[in-house]
Amino acid sequence: MDARNTPEIAVQGIAASPGIAHGQVLRHIQCDLELPVYQVKPEQRAAEQERFDRALLATRQQIQRIKAEVEKNLGADEARIFDAHLLVLEDQALIGETEREFETGSINIEACFDKVAKRYIKAFSEIDDEYLRERAGDIRDVAQRVLQNLLGRVEQTLSNFEGNRVIVANDISPSETVGMDRNKVLAVITDSGSRTSHAVIVARTLRVPAVVGTRDLTKRIVDGDWVLVDGYDGAVILNPSEQTLFRYGKIQVKRRNIEQRLLEASRLPSVTLDGAGVMLRANIERTDEMEQVRSYSAKGVGLFRTEFLYLQGNRIPSEEEQFQIYKAAAEFFGDESVTIRTLDLGGDKPMPGNPGMFSHEANPFLGMRAIRFCLEHEHLFRDQLRAILRASAFGKVLLMYPMISGPEELDRANEILDECRVELRGRGVAFDEKMPVGTMIEIPSAAMLSDILAAKSDFFSIGTNDLIQYMLAIDRGNERIAHLYEPAHPAVLRMLRHIVEQAHQAGIKVCVCGEMAGDPRYVPLLLGLGVDELSMAGSLIPAVKFLIRAMNMADAKSLVAEALKQNKTAKIKALCNAFYTARMTEK
Ligand code: PEP
Ligand code: MG
Repeated sequence: MDARNTPEIAVQGIAASPGIAHGQVLRHIQCDLELPVYQVKPEQRAAEQERFDRALLATRQQIQRIKAEVEKNLGADEARIFDAHLLVLEDQALIGETEREFETGSINIEACFDKVAKRYIKAFSEIDDEYLRERAGDIRDVAQRVLQNLLGRVEQTLSNFEGNRVIVANDISPSETVGMDRNKVLAVITDSGSRTSHAVIVARTLRVPAVVGTRDLTKRIVDGDWVLVDGYDGAVILNPSEQTLFRYGKIQVKRRNIEQRLLEASRLPSVTLDGAGVMLRANIERTDEMEQVRSYSAKGVGLFRTEFLYLQGNRIPSEEEQFQIYKAAAEFFGDESVTIRTLDLGGDKPMPGNPGMFSHEANPFLGMRAIRFCLEHEHLFRDQLRAILRASAFGKVLLMYPMISGPEELDRANEILDECRVELRGRGVAFDEKMPVGTMIEIPSAAMLSDILAAKSDFFSIGTNDLIQYMLAIDRGNERIAHLYEPAHPAVLRMLRHIVEQAHQAGIKVCVCGEMAGDPRYVPLLLGLGVDELSMAGSLIPAVKFLIRAMNMADAKSLVAEALKQNKTAKIKALCNAFYTARMTEK
């Protein structure tokens, strides 16, 4: 056995993605590249120039190595992007200007390079030409590498390590999670975060066990320590003893049996005992999840989080690239609809190293995020809208806007969409003229204006992750207040009731695509409120469907009636738990 003779230590975190894993730790400490700025003495100038040349050479070798690896694993087409990166290193303007900046001033070379690179990135990202705009992403990637080499930082990603490891991080970004090598990462533990932080949502989709909110664990462990991770209960056990490993081995077998039973049941119709059908769709972040969500019998996609296409390569995909991806999804699901959400960058999903687009914000969740970002960077928004419209000719595509706060934003987004339609018609490009366009309700102001927004929307999709965060003023990524994040809060319940009532009065359907929809304890509340569809990580569908098949819709309505009489969260939670437990043990 792997356990060592050191004492076992148990740490309680927040269960974030189910599964049990046992393995050795790889610490992943994120730190921003803090750029030193200092004066260089005349006698040190030659050495400084040499340092720059060495960093450029090291960067070239790194890129060539990555290119060869990508070519081997994914093919020549995918590797081509690195040719563009190599060209950046040869760019006489960028390199030459850095050297001129260094010669005329007296500050260190990394500060000069950073200044020039930022100027170029900004200039390129504002050009109204798709090809040239993409160059901004290439320059940004390469600049980051050059700076890392200048500062002597070893690049650490979640795919370039040896063997299988449990990643223990202070924090982990959504782009790092999405780039994780599933075959090497046994589990993820983070000091910060909560069940609804985006990195965790991705981990769940990838079926990587995860525990978050372990506070200072990264300070208490070292690389190579043995750790057991229980993503069901949120326990992390350092140096697990033989007995503990044996106990968890038994738990794992039991869990696997349950999961197998749920999976088998998930092939059966999604109907309550009293005959009400419930549409269960999947949330996806990447198209390579499509096969997997189909295996869970998802009826299409209720939320395609497109920002991960941007985060994955830390570059802005072109209209054509996006079109190919959305088209593939539309074709894959055929008659089952695919709801594509327009870009929701910002908040806990900034694109690192994009100085022209993302600057430091004191409150990113209240900042330049989602539709606000798109309306500010209209050319990016138009590229995406055209790509979605074009894909709509190949299947059943729906489009929805995230983070709408009121009718002005919705009207402006729809105006731009209309202009894209006119443009495509003019070019004779086919698209679905009747493609439904929906609004995400995830800001309290939008919820309050549900009647007004419903009149302008083909459907609503409630993003409970954000709606709860903004209603209760609980940062969804902050582990210190994660225990206060309450889907069963009476205010949340009333707000949900209001949204569903207004939507139904306007004759449109309501989907819930936040994590609440995938939690079997809260599903009866949502269904009893009249929510028409639920969308969740594919892996959560079996448990939700199992419950749906064990309950009556009439009972769910009674549960809601009872819950609405309560004025305390704990009472509502107790009602939900009792409802759930009774159905799960009756079966
Ligand atoms: C939500 O807020 O509930 C939602 C589905 O969107 P996201 O989690 O991507 O913010
Ligand atoms: Mg949201």
